[in-house]
Amino acid sequence: MSAGADGAGVKSKMDTIGLYLKEAFKEPGCPICRVLEKFENEWIENVLYEHVNSPSVRKKFLESLGLCTYHAWRVRHVAASNPLYGPLGVGTIYEHMLRVYIESLEKGESVKRGKCHLCSLVEEKEMRTIEEVAQRFDYLIEAYEESEAILCSYHYDMLMERLRDRPELAGKLMEIHVRKLKNLHSTLRRYLDSFDYRSTYQPTKRDMESVPGSIEALKGRPIGINICRAKTRGKGKRFGFI
Ligand SMILES: [Zn+2]
Ligand SMILES: [Zn+2]
Repeated sequence: MSAGADGAGVKSKMDTIGLYLKEAFKEPGCPICRVLEKFENEWIENVLYEHVNSPSVRKKFLESLGLCTYHAWRVRHVAASNPLYGPLGVGTIYEHMLRVYIESLEKGESVKRGKCHLCSLVEEKEMRTIEEVAQRFDYLIEAYEESEAILCSYHYDMLMERLRDRPELAGKLMEIHVRKLKNLHSTLRRYLDSFDYRSTYQPTKRDMESVPGSIEALKGRPIGINICRAKTRGKGKRFGFI
């Protein structure tokens, strides 16, 4: 914990957001991806549950002709995986999108596909979450050190960037993070070695989870923002599948 006024400020921020983030930092995998995945799912569930016919939400869908490809399929997936939603809501939304698409073709107009509303919301949430984590990191680092959490490479970079004016804390994060990655690497090696016909070692569940764990550590969880980011990495900008 840093000393002085700043330290006191950090302490006073141990509010519900801090406690919520701490829970995410106790889970396996990237805690920031986890928060974003939950946010993304909750938005979709909320739309399907009570905003299918809301004109303002429908307007947001129309801006991109039904979200980006990734999020359109997520809406379908969430609807299909919960009998509470079923096909009616998602069908109603995409009947409207299809109708607008046909009308624009018949009028000879070019089809407008703006930025996906849900991509924009998740991007804002990501910025906010990184900021909230950085502000409380003196407190969260302990949960990070003790848990199975491993920040994905994208969110590690973003957090390190936010901690650049606190080199001691950033250094500690780097040390813990590299140790976690090395542990993951050893577990993966042990799992791979168990496939050797001479091996008598019985891999554990943890060993098996090192395969998706390694992918998550490098690429993040399979959420829209990571897929779009990976697609445009190095080009200096980010946009959806539109
Ligand atoms: Zn992540
Ligand atoms: Zn999207």
